[in-house]
Amino acid sequence: MSATANLKDHGLESLRARFVEEGIPAYRANQVMAWMYQRDVDDFNLMTDLSLDLRDALAERYATRAVEIVKAERSVDGTQKLALTTHDGHRIEAVIIPEARRNTLCISTQVGCPLACDFCATGTMGLTRNLTTAEIVDQVCRARTCLDEEDGEISNIVFMGMGEPLLNLPAVEEAIRIMTDPRGMALAPRRITVSTAGVVPRIPDLVEIGPINLAVSLHATTDEVRDVLVPINKKFPLEVLLDTLRSNPNVTKKRPVFFEYTLIEGMNDSLEDADRLPGLLRGIPCKINLIPANPHPGSRYRAPKQEVMDRFAARVHEHGMRVTLRRSRGTDIAAACGQLANTDADEVGLGEGA
Ligand code: SAH
Repeated sequence: MSATANLKDHGLESLRARFVEEGIPAYRANQVMAWMYQRDVDDFNLMTDLSLDLRDALAERYATRAVEIVKAERSVDGTQKLALTTHDGHRIEAVIIPEARRNTLCISTQVGCPLACDFCATGTMGLTRNLTTAEIVDQVCRARTCLDEEDGEISNIVFMGMGEPLLNLPAVEEAIRIMTDPRGMALAPRRITVSTAGVVPRIPDLVEIGPINLAVSLHATTDEVRDVLVPINKKFPLEVLLDTLRSNPNVTKKRPVFFEYTLIEGMNDSLEDADRLPGLLRGIPCKINLIPANPHPGSRYRAPKQEVMDRFAARVHEHGMRVTLRRSRGTDIAAACGQLANTDADEVGLGEGA
């Protein structure tokens, strides 16, 4: 089979335009979208409201699958880590995190990541390539097959897997359109969170997409420390990053920004750090998520002792800021923040996609 275009690369508008160009009535795009995202059907033969001729024509020209599950591991806490492969044999990962009344899916946007954050497993891999829209969206479709009826649906999506979403924004943007389109996955924008390490010039474009949540990987209160932990800080230092957020009405007038702050022993866990946060983040409606540093092979960083983390959280709280100290989930299967990397080097020779 020759390389085919993938239907999941297109949001509704783009798919309608493409169909019209090919002489297919635009409303057919609505039908195909509903099959793929509302009924989880990828096989044209099962799209029974399309004529047989159209089903054949589409099958000839288009693929609907973009990633396949090669391995699914379940943590003792119910977290599931999915190893997926693209059709050209690259490994990516997605994580399903069940919580009280929701299931959050953490998805990847790149194979590897170019940002090389010092404490992150994905950062050690370098960038292989961007994922396509179809590869981003299909992670959700594949994850849905891993949930039973009693588990419920994927209710929230976080762009916090492998890669830097803002270095692949066009593909991410189209994926968000598909996720939020009432005729696509029909998720409310507030159920979607995109996290960035601080690719400042792309932040205005991201927050213009709609009322999705923005998460920013802060991790330090001085440039000196952030330059080491998040090297893109050398290009876009704290003041530039935070001023950009502060001065953008799409940020300040919408939902609070989530600042991720990975607590690392001896690096960023002092009370002086806690005391610097309110001044630093002044004027930005926000919540601070403290994450204990997760270990991964080769990393010299560890989480502070529990009492140090508790004291840090309490101090930030005393300053009147909204703060939560997260429990790490899925650490026994290396599915927690910053633990996603291809530990299995074997390339997977999948046959042709569906
Ligand atoms: N590139 C984006 C998306 C990844 S989100 C970003 O950096 O925001 C993954 C989150 O986990 C980021 O906040 C990242 O800094 C954090 N993280 C990376 N390595 C970690 C580790 N070892 N322990 C805890 N958190 C980590």
